[in-house]
Amino acid sequence: MFNKRIKIKELLLQQAGQQGIVVMGWVRTFRNNQFIALNDGSTNANLQIVASLGEFNDELLKRITTSAALKVTGELVESQGRGQPVELKATEIQILGDSDAEKYPLQPKKHSLEFLRGIAHLRFRTNTFGSIFRIRHSLAFAVHQFFHEKGFLYMHTPIITATDAEGAGEMFRVTTLPFDNPPREESGAINFKEDFFGRSTNLTVSGQLEGELGATALGEIYTFGPTFRAENSNTTRHLAEFWMIEPEMAFHDLEDNMNLAESFIKYIIRFAMENNMEDLKFLDQRLSEEEKLLPADKRSEMGLIDKLKFVVDNNFERITYTEAIDILLNSSAYKKKKFQYEVKWGIDMQSEHERYLVEKHFKKPVIVTNYPKDIKAFYMRQNDDGKTVAAMDILAPGIGEIVGGSQREERLDKLVTRMKDMHIAEDELWWYLDTRKFGTVPHAGFGLGFERMVLFVTGMTNIRDVIAFPRTPKSADF
Ligand code: ATP
Ligand code: MN
Repeated sequence: MFNKRIKIKELLLQQAGQQGIVVMGWVRTFRNNQFIALNDGSTNANLQIVASLGEFNDELLKRITTSAALKVTGELVESQGRGQPVELKATEIQILGDSDAEKYPLQPKKHSLEFLRGIAHLRFRTNTFGSIFRIRHSLAFAVHQFFHEKGFLYMHTPIITATDAEGAGEMFRVTTLPFDNPPREESGAINFKEDFFGRSTNLTVSGQLEGELGATALGEIYTFGPTFRAENSNTTRHLAEFWMIEPEMAFHDLEDNMNLAESFIKYIIRFAMENNMEDLKFLDQRLSEEEKLLPADKRSEMGLIDKLKFVVDNNFERITYTEAIDILLNSSAYKKKKFQYEVKWGIDMQSEHERYLVEKHFKKPVIVTNYPKDIKAFYMRQNDDGKTVAAMDILAPGIGEIVGGSQREERLDKLVTRMKDMHIAEDELWWYLDTRKFGTVPHAGFGLGFERMVLFVTGMTNIRDVIAFPRTPKSADF
């Protein structure tokens, strides 16, 4: 058996005095031909390994270079130096993999995030990305734990679909037809009957419609999977491939939906605070150093951990869309013409408007409800005023929209009328309409963009830095 190692995170909590300890990891630094800082990915804290002078031959010592992989056996002793309570006094050092230090792209100095994006295959080896990916894992685990505790079923909705949940374009086509010479109908249109599925198909933009089918029988379900949008929005908040969590609940109205979303967000943040405090402290520190370089008015008022505590301990603000527009119209930002985009009832709020509400006006997460029906999807439940739908978006400081959800239209006649108005083909969604014909119930759900949540919890500012290998316009490396 090869894997007799103990993880460094665990070892650093143990008492000195044990013999025959085995660790494996990658060299971060090697000082004075004697002190190795070893990292194994379990924590940012490196294990100090002492290779006592004269005990190891020069050939071996020469091979202990930055990022070389080692197996070290030794005795856990009290540390002579400062910075760590224990260290490993090596009795045996084995090189598992050499690393040419001259060619290794990561030097022990500060690299820009942009540079690190270009070497995304190696950026996991930095402290920043170690912390980010451990927190990302915790948040994903917490998502499952939250819903499992509440009796939701994890439902796997298809990745390849023939529908577009939003009723709008921006999808990636899935096809096996030859693109240089596709089969054509007499009219000249591409003949998708000859395509793999016998029809035109796409990568999913949301699992919601299928999720509703599950919820209206199983009660409460959630999806957690990749979604794809070919939107050409080159922003720090959009990816072409991102992970979305979409719970869908029978017997829930809009308020139930908001309550669930708010407690869900608080739960997974709390989980990270209970399980990843060391990494959060590291990122908190990193952020405050980063912000020292910004002009005073661009800096956050709270540090990362204080911000997370604040969100967990306080109620989200809940306002209607109409109230939100009034706040914007009465703001000094509006009066001083600081907004680039127009403000009036009916607009799809731009990120500058959302950020004003959240960061300047309320200074906390805000749930905006009852949007104009014309800017929202066909399946949202129509309100009695004839103008708005039972939608809710949750806006978070520094991020903007983090959740989009609604109570769904359960009344068949209203749903069909809305689909006609919006030119959505009923025959393509016959299976969706069936749920409204056979025991329809009030139900609701939302979608939370997982990477936006990871951004919020890690305090990072570019969504490309919280997913291992980002897919964005003109970029799909690794
Ligand atoms: P936005 O206005 O920010 O583009 P949206 O209205 O298109 O968002 P929804 O269709 O409601 O978003 O999707 C639900 C959630 O998925 C959003 O609240 C957001 O958290 C996330 N999301 C949407 N598009 C993206 C994307 N391109 N990359 C990452 N996350 C996304
Ligand atoms: Mn969008």
